[in-house]
Amino acid sequence: MNIQSLRDDFPIFDEQINGHPLVYLDSAATSQKPRQVLSAIEQYYQHENSNVHRGVHTLGNRATESYEGAREKVAAFIHAPSSSQVVFTRGTTESLNMIAYGYARLRLQAGDEIVLSPSEHHSNLIPWQQVARVTGATLKYLPLQADGTIRVEDFAATVTDKTKLVAVAQVSNVLGTIHPIQQFAEIAHAHGAIIVVDGAQSVPHMPVDVQALDCDFLAFSGHKMCGPTGVGVLYGKASLLAEMEPTYFGGEMIDIVELHQSTWKEAPWKFEGGTPIIAGAIGLGAAVDYLTAIGMEEVQRHDMHLAQLAMARLSDMEGIDVYGPGPGVERGGLVTFNLRGVHPHDVATVLDAAGVAVRAGHHCAQPLMRILDVPATARASFYLYNTENDIDALVGALQQAKEFFG
Ligand code: PLP
Repeated sequence: MNIQSLRDDFPIFDEQINGHPLVYLDSAATSQKPRQVLSAIEQYYQHENSNVHRGVHTLGNRATESYEGAREKVAAFIHAPSSSQVVFTRGTTESLNMIAYGYARLRLQAGDEIVLSPSEHHSNLIPWQQVARVTGATLKYLPLQADGTIRVEDFAATVTDKTKLVAVAQVSNVLGTIHPIQQFAEIAHAHGAIIVVDGAQSVPHMPVDVQALDCDFLAFSGHKMCGPTGVGVLYGKASLLAEMEPTYFGGEMIDIVELHQSTWKEAPWKFEGGTPIIAGAIGLGAAVDYLTAIGMEEVQRHDMHLAQLAMARLSDMEGIDVYGPGPGVERGGLVTFNLRGVHPHDVATVLDAAGVAVRAGHHCAQPLMRILDVPATARASFYLYNTENDIDALVGALQQAKEFFG
């Protein structure tokens, strides 16, 4: 992986931020986009723009081919058995809500249990709270170790025959913890439960094989993996997608419409009511091509190396608290930290003055902030275009912040 030439693919790195070259350490929030993705979207609008699935004209066929081609690319990327198991959605949040509304709300009842981790992003927490509220099912939380990991034996002790659904992120967006999804899935299935995996922070950064994981549903967002905003994916096992009800009703998703009743197309189209996210899906397809050409093992190795390096450098600094799995333990490509006694918003503001973009806040994980006993944290997250120089810039800017705040 030649990072320098790869960085040339990303026009954003020509930007100067407050008089400094951009050091972008916020890819867990959204990644930057390579020219290849930008030009695939432009190509669609300039040469193919038309609605899909309806037309018999040439442009309509071109657009449909590109849109359905993107679905094939995504299916191959996550090793789905069939592209009909890939539903285009607006993103992880929408995918998870669709499972909650179209599947869980209709199947769960009082006495059933939903098992979650307390470190979940709000997108993988609130939909299940809503399901519990309307069905009478109970939420049950997995115990977190101090470093944010979940022990398999604790998982096995929490899931029971009452558990109908487990929802857990493969990689935590705050702690970087990588959960053993394959083992969790095996235990969940032994109790007759399904497992919903939030792949927002895993699919962009590591090879994810839905068949090897044996997950029942997987949700992820295009914008965190070099694709555009406004597009994401819901993967599901074929039998579950067949059982699941659509969330949106209207054009495109129907088979036969009568005045008093209607029938739907099969999955995935029954879930894509209205004009679908055509340009977004095509952009995501181009992002998948881009990442595949580099190789996801390579991306994972690179991102994890930078996270380990940042972890070690920040842990060595006086006055910095670092959260999540300790040095040497596998973690996703991010590091969450605080400068003791200084609010992370202030830290992020000083870093921004030096051109270093990090995220500060509760990271959509308020319950986890309470467990960590902090109001908020700062987070540096890495992707394929980051270099060790970016970590030098982060450490240098943090030194300045330390001096500034005394
Ligand atoms: N889940 C996790 C773990 C995330 O990190 C995010 C985004 O930060 C989401 C869900 C929500 O993704 P989106 O806002 O793209 O729907």
